[in-house]
Amino acid sequence: MGYIDELGELVAKRQQETISISDQIWDFAESRFQEFKSARLQIDYLKSLGFAITEGLGGAETAFVAEAGGGKPIVGFLGEYDALSGLSQEADADCHKPIQEGGDGHGCGHNLLGAGSLAATVAIKEYMEEKNIPGTVRYYGCPAEENAGGKAFMVRDGCFDDCDIVLAWHPGSINCINKSGSLANFRVFFTFHGKSAHAAGSPHLGRSALDAVELMNVGVNYMREHMIDEARVHYAVTNSGGTAPNVVQSEAQVLYAIRAPQVNQVKELYDRVCKIAQGAALMTETEVEIRQVAAYSNYIGNDVIGKQIKDHLTESLPLDYTEEELQYAAKFQKVITELDAKNLKARAKRIAGKDSEKLLAMPIWNFVGPDASGKGSTDVGDVSWVCPTGYCHMATLAAGTPGHAWQAVAQGKGSIAHKGMLLAAKVLAATAYDFLTNPELIQAAREDWLEKLDGETYPNALPKDAKPEIW
Ligand SMILES: [Zn+2]
Repeated sequence: MGYIDELGELVAKRQQETISISDQIWDFAESRFQEFKSARLQIDYLKSLGFAITEGLGGAETAFVAEAGGGKPIVGFLGEYDALSGLSQEADADCHKPIQEGGDGHGCGHNLLGAGSLAATVAIKEYMEEKNIPGTVRYYGCPAEENAGGKAFMVRDGCFDDCDIVLAWHPGSINCINKSGSLANFRVFFTFHGKSAHAAGSPHLGRSALDAVELMNVGVNYMREHMIDEARVHYAVTNSGGTAPNVVQSEAQVLYAIRAPQVNQVKELYDRVCKIAQGAALMTETEVEIRQVAAYSNYIGNDVIGKQIKDHLTESLPLDYTEEELQYAAKFQKVITELDAKNLKARAKRIAGKDSEKLLAMPIWNFVGPDASGKGSTDVGDVSWVCPTGYCHMATLAAGTPGHAWQAVAQGKGSIAHKGMLLAAKVLAATAYDFLTNPELIQAAREDWLEKLDGETYPNALPKDAKPEIW
């Protein structure tokens, strides 16, 4: 029996505990920097298994690290456990059915992400003890991946500086390596202050903050024509100034997400968006307050770590799915939108060309897919600037399920999701073993990392005074 099988057995030995942790975190559904119960559950479990815990990393109450072993090399696993706003949804229901109207839900599968990485850490720790393998393993409890980029605060605090290798995964609808990509991203609040007045009796005395928000958005929408194709800019009006049309709105606020492949490209766009905001303030005789609350860096892929993960993934697939599981996935494929179904077809075509029908007949994509380069943003990117980082996706959802949607929340406690999570634990634990036992491999990963950085250093785009905050 090879080490991957032995590690797989260690993961299987504790699978009920792992599944229970994942399901409880799904139930807690705590969003950014409020993951108090989710963090406590994992800390208590890791403590009971002999890990040393440090809490409150990067100024975030719900960030922690659990460590076992000692000395070099140091391999870290990244765990996330934050939910998304407004995505409350009943488990297993194939129609939109919030548990609590307006409540939060795990639309990105971070319940699985945290528990899977945690299970990998526990398995490799127990294996190291059994086989007398020297080195340190760490589980990084990383809060607020969504909307606040929690890891950027931890990186700023130096939490990853002595790591040799970091390993991460993400739930999704395909098994693959993340080769590169993920867009750098800033989150910025623009708050306009105007003057309230009776909108009919004395409109000339009012200065509308809501007008300023609208004009700013119009300005940014004109800017779109003159930015690089890969950039993305989107906004949410977080305060429209009240519900009374007959009161001139004295306060209004809009939250922007500005994305591009490189941090310096985001910085350039951000400066332009700030100018537009100032222009809107000038036009409306209001004042604008600009507050950047998060910064995500782009992900630096690592071919050496990627190859190890891919080899283990190839060795471990396909998984055995029961007829019931295939039917469960097929049921969810019926409730995705027409556009998502089109997207699934296009994706199948990109992967399999003429044979795309074969893929479309599989409700769960049970194979190693082509290497991905993401269009979203992740704060795993920030970690990858300071330490060689391997990153992959595992199929936990029916093929075609959109992320950040109720369909993804609903599948988060199902057995397909659990199987994908346990696969991640086994594959990442085996990859950790490779690096813990082979210093040349660590060196090779480091060289690949330095080559990709090409002399650049971590851009650290967080404003100096930014702190983890609940907003
Ligand atoms: Zn996510």
